[in-house]
Amino acid sequence: MELCHQTSSVPTASKDKDRLTPLFIYADLMRFKRSFTEPVPKRREDGFAKTGIAAFHGRARFAGPTAVQVGEETLQGRYVVIAAGDTPADLEIPGAEHLTTSDQFLELNELPGRILFIGGGYIAFEFAHVAARAGSQVTILHRGPRPLGLFDPNLVDQLVEQTRELGIDVHLGTEAVEIEKSFAQLIVRTLASGETGTFQTQMVVHAAGRVPEIKDLNLDAAGIEWQNWGVRVNEFLQSVSIPAVYAAGDAAASGGPPLAPVASYEGPQTS
Ligand SMILES: Cc1cc2nc3c(=O)[nH]c(=O)nc-3n(C[C@H](O)[C@H](O)[C@H](O)COP(=O)(O)OP(=O)(O)OC[C@H]3O[C@@H](n4cnc5c(N)ncnc54)[C@H](O)[C@@H]3O)c2cc1C
Repeated sequence: MELCHQTSSVPTASKDKDRLTPLFIYADLMRFKRSFTEPVPKRREDGFAKTGIAAFHGRARFAGPTAVQVGEETLQGRYVVIAAGDTPADLEIPGAEHLTTSDQFLELNELPGRILFIGGGYIAFEFAHVAARAGSQVTILHRGPRPLGLFDPNLVDQLVEQTRELGIDVHLGTEAVEIEKSFAQLIVRTLASGETGTFQTQMVVHAAGRVPEIKDLNLDAAGIEWQNWGVRVNEFLQSVSIPAVYAAGDAAASGGPPLAPVASYEGPQTS
């Protein structure tokens, strides 16, 4: 049996109810965001320079256990800290090239009328609430029975209820298996309890997990052990194979959740 979910913007009585009157203009929100995010890189770099930290621009990769290459330069450190963060996981489904990443989502100047999020983590829920309040019709697909796995189950149940009351269509136990582009539409094919379904939308956002951004660091050549959840470290965040190398934040398999306060706590202190 095939279920077809029309998240079409064509007004119908029930769908009108699913769409909130916009509480703000999304372009205004983005302008406000840029007013405080855009000055940050320069301010940070100026701050680094003042404390004697040299900044190099470019992708870094290991050229030896404590040697790092950036562009034409090779830097030799007594110690090296890997703090490369994470990147969207490869969903390995046909049509994955049609996905919008969370970084791209945060650079949009306007939102389409219909947006579908694959994944039920905090990125999906945060963005879904913003998009719904900006007037988009929003769907979340999550393959497990309960979203937001890291968080308190009672609070998650309340959040899911409130999210649905807001008009956001939350489908649990629903796995996206393919994305197809058809003119201006994106069609997401799903599997839920053995049944196939389709969702039509205008944008599909990848919110289905992130992985440490360490694959292009040449760690194997440097002898630095890693696993899918990051650089393997001991309780002091020290590489288990190269003691002069440390890892912190989302790139480290330290057991901490991939959240900003954890990365700040683990990061080297400069003051
Ligand atoms: C959309 C989104 C929303 C989030 N919301 C929250 C939230 O509400 N609360 C919360 O606590 N956390 C949130 N997080 C998680 C939080 O952003 C991360 O946990 C935190 O930024 C991790 O810090 P980090 O220093 O480990 O890595 P990052 O902040 O990711 O920094 C890593 C940097 O290294 C760079 N880099 C990677 N590889 C290389 C290389 N080879 N050479 C040179 N540079 C490289 C990257 O480009 C990046 O600039 C969110 C994340 C996302 C994606």
